[in-house]
Amino acid sequence: MEWQTVIGLEVHAQLSTQTKLFCRCATTFGKAANENTCPVCLALPGALPALNAHAVELAVKAAIALGCDVQRESVFARKNYFYPDLPKGYQISQYERPYAVGGGLTLDSGKHVRLVRIHMEEDAGKNVHAGTSHSLVDYNRACTPLIEIVSEPDLRGAEEAGEYLKRLRQILMALEVCDGNMEEGSFRCDVNVSVNRPGEKLGTRVELKNINSFKFIGQAIEYEVQRQRELIEGGGKVVQETRLYDAEAKTTRSMRSKEDAHDYRYFPDPDLPPLVIDAALLDRLRREAPELPHAKKKRYVEQLGLPPYDAGVLTDDRHIAAFFEATIALGADPKAASNWIMGEVLRSLDDKGAGALALKPAQLAELIALIKDGVISGKIAKDIFSDLLDGSQMPKAIVDQKGLVQVSDTGAIDAAVAQVIAANSKQVEGYKAGNEKLLGFFVGQVMKAMGGKANPTLVNEALKRALG
Ligand code: ADP
Ligand code: MG
Ligand code: ZN
Repeated sequence: MEWQTVIGLEVHAQLSTQTKLFCRCATTFGKAANENTCPVCLALPGALPALNAHAVELAVKAAIALGCDVQRESVFARKNYFYPDLPKGYQISQYERPYAVGGGLTLDSGKHVRLVRIHMEEDAGKNVHAGTSHSLVDYNRACTPLIEIVSEPDLRGAEEAGEYLKRLRQILMALEVCDGNMEEGSFRCDVNVSVNRPGEKLGTRVELKNINSFKFIGQAIEYEVQRQRELIEGGGKVVQETRLYDAEAKTTRSMRSKEDAHDYRYFPDPDLPPLVIDAALLDRLRREAPELPHAKKKRYVEQLGLPPYDAGVLTDDRHIAAFFEATIALGADPKAASNWIMGEVLRSLDDKGAGALALKPAQLAELIALIKDGVISGKIAKDIFSDLLDGSQMPKAIVDQKGLVQVSDTGAIDAAVAQVIAANSKQVEGYKAGNEKLLGFFVGQVMKAMGGKANPTLVNEALKRALG
């Protein structure tokens, strides 16, 4: 009988605040160890947490976009365990009363993946293993705001899990709730995997901890599914445990079993009042909720007539989508703008990404208009494109200054055509004998003779006339 894979995901997304969840330390990544710390996040005696209101806003934005039920009142709880990277000896999280429940996300197939809940919590610090004799702890990350987004076990394989994660990450990035940076750990996930036979009750799950790349998540699931199937087929039983993925060996290995699972002794944190989200805030955030990438993609296809591929590329990055919309708002044809953006614009980006693009929509719109009006050829437009990238000069000014205006003077074109025909009698014979492909050769020669500035439509017409 066939096997079915069942997956539920717990995603930790770092909220894009300037400061931490319960103190005013900066969240800046890559600082010297323990530079971003204070008595609160170091848990010095007497220090008290105070909730970051901006973190709450970002968390609520995410919950609205994911269709959750935002709770008017929720409770922060202490999750007790002892580990050197956890200075208080407990993590402040939400347990019985999270701020958001339900909601979900729809995949391309139309399948709806339900969410159990989203809760807010603080991150832990980081142990640095300095050698065999001792370890060091960096508390810069301690108390960084996170949301944990918990899905129902609705996913049915590595591919669906990958699509769900990509969609979720894209939404959080579009909302500017999370920067999505997986290398820096801003978006990471625990994967719960089990196998069963369709129709039977769910199998025992194994939890794969903290995997931070799409590739490794896929590999870890594939490996784990195979391991569980073989185990059951060999008469064994899957035990509920936490396993770690070893990317080098491409295997998973046991970290701790259910028996040594922590008893977290959760209880409401007496230092923090219940979190009350007032109706006015919720109303405002609902009103301000931006169009999500997926809805945007659909609109580009249905209303602007773009191919789904183009629409997907343009909406994948909110900066690019905004650039595109500003360009067409200035009158540029959507498909022409899309071609330029998917080609030259995306190619010009460095690792700072589209957020750092200095090129302006007005420049691209004008460039497209110059081609459309026959002032310059597409070739010339590509040649001057790099001059536009610093955002300082309009294309028309560059064209004027460099004398690149397209030649539409038929007298000059006819003269160049005559010259080319005279110099290439062999090809003329070939063309007249029926080799029509040679027209391209003639066009190229004429363009070359005219410094690339001739109007290509007029050149084609003149050649056809001259060649009979
Ligand atoms: P814990 O904190 O113990 O990990 P949670 O309730 O936070 O428990 O998360 C449980 C996760 O495991 C959810 O994402 C849920 O969808 C998933 N899950 C539960 N049962 C199964 C199962 N049989 N197979 C796969 N995933 C499961
Ligand atoms: Mg878990
Ligand atoms: Zn601090």
